[in-house]
Amino acid sequence: MTIFSREQLLFSPASPTFEAIGTIFAFPNKYSVGITSLGYQIIWSSLAIRSDIQVSRLFTDVHESLPQEVELVGFSFSWELDYVNILQLLEFLDIPLHSQARENEHPLVFGGGPVLTANPEPFAAFFDVILLGDGEVLLDQFITAYQEVRNANRSTQLTHLAQIPGIYIPSLYQINYESATGPIISIEPLDSNIPPQIAKQTYRGNTLSTSTVVTEEAAWENIYMVEVVRSCPEMCRFCLASYLTLPFRTPSVEDSLIPAIDRGLKVTNRLGLLGASVTQHPEFDSILDRLAEPQYEEVRLSLSSVRTNTLTEKLAKTLAMRDSRSITIAIESGSERLRQIINKKLNNPEILQAATNALAGGLKAVKFYAMVGLPGEQENDLQETVSLLKKIKSTTTGLRLTLGCSTFVPKAHTPFQWYGVQHQAEKRLKSLEKQLRIQGIDFRPESYNWSVIQALISRGDRRLTGILELTRSYGDTLGSFKRAFKELKGQLPTLDYYVHQDWSIEQVLPWQHILGPLPQSTLVKHLQDAQSYIEG
Ligand code: SF4
Repeated sequence: MTIFSREQLLFSPASPTFEAIGTIFAFPNKYSVGITSLGYQIIWSSLAIRSDIQVSRLFTDVHESLPQEVELVGFSFSWELDYVNILQLLEFLDIPLHSQARENEHPLVFGGGPVLTANPEPFAAFFDVILLGDGEVLLDQFITAYQEVRNANRSTQLTHLAQIPGIYIPSLYQINYESATGPIISIEPLDSNIPPQIAKQTYRGNTLSTSTVVTEEAAWENIYMVEVVRSCPEMCRFCLASYLTLPFRTPSVEDSLIPAIDRGLKVTNRLGLLGASVTQHPEFDSILDRLAEPQYEEVRLSLSSVRTNTLTEKLAKTLAMRDSRSITIAIESGSERLRQIINKKLNNPEILQAATNALAGGLKAVKFYAMVGLPGEQENDLQETVSLLKKIKSTTTGLRLTLGCSTFVPKAHTPFQWYGVQHQAEKRLKSLEKQLRIQGIDFRPESYNWSVIQALISRGDRRLTGILELTRSYGDTLGSFKRAFKELKGQLPTLDYYVHQDWSIEQVLPWQHILGPLPQSTLVKHLQDAQSYIEG
């Protein structure tokens, strides 16, 4: 019995025709990780329901039987350091790593997913085609456009695909630098018939994604996932999940969500409600009412995350009744001044109330999530985080408190994309750890070094290709990245430039040619509002 035969499918794959396009759709990690990605499931099933596509899945540990003639190889890319596995899978398939080295007989390598949508540039050399935006809109257009030039040569195919909104062909754009180690001065298409800018595509329908496969082999065993909201209207100024995916979209409860939940519960009792902030759904209360009904008694319910001021006693009760013990809420900081800077519309009494509600509703634990190194942060802001946690602990005896804490990482297409990572963040993580552990609060810091690597990739340009190829053999530690920068010194800017320096708003950004949902002027306006709070 193979791992694939243990799957329960919630869709009917088509039988491919004789002429079908041989396609491999890969997830650059193990099967258990890839099959737990709702994005991967959706794109795979969208390919599998087409009779003009013969699709096989490929993971780093297992694969389905692969087509003899492969024309398309796709990757769903959702974790930055999985690039190592992308390169390994390309080698396994005997495909040159660089798009420039591929010939007519090689498949077209396409990619999509959160990492590429945020900033494709560090990985641009490895892909022929990058799909920017929601798969619901892009995938069919991509396949239709490919069909139109299926028998043409590679260069004609790429030029044709570049005309489709949201389809980015990195090799058709030239990046000009002031010098090898200097900033970008311009990004231009190689030819006048290539659009100078590529607009990320947005799906505007009101039915959102649900699992297309359920399996005990998933990292979240037997989970059936339902996307309750897409994007988040709150616009905290560091938040990619909000800025890059706007507008905020919600499916109707009675017409979409409940029927979708009922479909999934026919094959499993584990239900995961997903979204940047699921309780933002305007009818979330009625979703809770429905899930409290007796027919859902056996359901084990998990929520991805909730906004702090929507953690009501009713929500806590429903979760406790449906086998959840804890809840995660992001407070970002205990300092109200800092929350104003980042546009997090939340105050300390609301945070305290959320913890009280969790306890009253029967939950056993609350995990708070915060950041250090946010723009404008001062030592005093850290003390406010410690004081707030102490206060919550003293007023909610019996509730297990955890504070997960990471370092601020600038993300493309957000108002904080111009800010670098603060060096003192590392010291501040340690200081918080020391102070909170004495209070008996479980402190779980995310590695500072990992945040530095994330920032490098998040603000990187195409000159990182060589760095990524070197660190592939050195290992994925920050030390490996530093070693690679030393080796390529003089060929690209420093690690400090990409990660720690604040960038000027006049500077050409590596993703300047990619249009997110908001114009740059809106991001600048948010940045200036933040700066005016910082200056006080
Ligand atoms: S509330 Fe959460 S998801 Fe929404 S913008 Fe703020 S950080 Fe992002």
